Amino acid sequence: MPAILLTGGAGYIASHTAICLLEAGFEVLALDNFSNSQPQALERVAQICGRSIPFVQADIRDEAALEHVFNTHQISAVVHFAGLKAVGESTEKPLEYYDNNVAGTVTLCRVMARHGVKQLVFSSSATVYGDAQKMPICEDAPRSATNPYGQSKLMLEYILADLQASDPQWRIAVLRYFNPVGAHPSGLIGENPNGIPNNLMPFISQVAVGKRAKLSVFGDDYATPDGTGVRDYIHVMDLADGHVKALQYLQQQAGLVAVNLGTGQGYSVLQMVKAFSEINQVAVPYQIVARRPGDIGTCYADARLALQLFGWKAERDLADMVRDAWRWQQQNPDGYCS
Ligand code: NAD
Ligand code: UDP
Repeated sequence: MPAILLTGGAGYIASHTAICLLEAGFEVLALDNFSNSQPQALERVAQICGRSIPFVQADIRDEAALEHVFNTHQISAVVHFAGLKAVGESTEKPLEYYDNNVAGTVTLCRVMARHGVKQLVFSSSATVYGDAQKMPICEDAPRSATNPYGQSKLMLEYILADLQASDPQWRIAVLRYFNPVGAHPSGLIGENPNGIPNNLMPFISQVAVGKRAKLSVFGDDYATPDGTGVRDYIHVMDLADGHVKALQYLQQQAGLVAVNLGTGQGYSVLQMVKAFSEINQVAVPYQIVARRPGDIGTCYADARLALQLFGWKAERDLADMVRDAWRWQQQNPDGYCS
């Protein structure tokens, strides 16, 4: 049976997606250069699924290595997660971001086309909506970007649309993720940030476990009910399931679709802190500090298109998100190196 190639397969979202794909009866092949992940993630996936996960260590920018992968494996579709994702770092190292994300994806698509593999699910982001004026955000909202990471996603959305328009055999699902959080309920895999976490949930978890003294809440003067930033947090297992549904959709439908994967529900930073500490019965000390440059006040999805096209909606609630994030953190205080 041909496999689904997961680029960035050892990463946070891909490792959870691998489980959902296997459970849905797909074969998977993971490819990663381990620039932001460890092979242990795939060993844990194997432990959860009771079977080994084939993987290749390679870089998506290495065309010869990709050629070899497509020559030696039967691949029916690609779910393309590989890329760099730290907004701050992208402003310091724009060329690395454009090279990894944009050039890497172009190389991948070129090799796919050569091998007649023209089904692609692509990891985009709600960041392509910039500072959206209308909530909830629909897929046809104006797009913009304010940093090289966001630019790279936006450019790729245009590149993939051009590619599909040039050759209607391509079937492409562009998935715009809102804020993925949480972990597999086993606590065996989860988010494993390098150094100081940029994102809210891993930061809260590290404060709760005692690795960091307190959370800095970036601004309490936004136009939101409690003044702190509002985001659409989505459980990573729901997000993972969205990829299975997107692939099943592409098996039936030609063309390109761009679809939000969010819950449609926004929570503020203080609501997240409160939920985490109350549900997990653990203290999360915090202080209010200045706004983080480049941050927006509110961002949440109109999630109806995913339901309409894929028959998918998020099933897990905030309690599941904070409980599963905490289980992973407690069992693995130092990530996969614990
Ligand atoms: P992650 O860093 O955990 O996973 C990305 C994986 O890609 C890592 O394992 C990394 O080693 C690998 N990788 C990076 N460059 C590569 C290259 N050139 N060749 C091969 N492998 C490479 O990140 P994630 O959170 O799982 O994100 C997956 C995708 O989803 C990314 O494209 C990211 O931009 C996108 N996304 C993530 C979020 C989020 O908040 N986590 C939100 C929106 C979109
Ligand atoms: N945030 C915060 N302290 C942190 C990290 C994040 O107050 O240490 C806030 C941030 O200002 C935003 C929300 O939490 O309002 C989500 O931030 P994150 O970086 O996780 O996601 P993004 O801003 O990319 O949507």
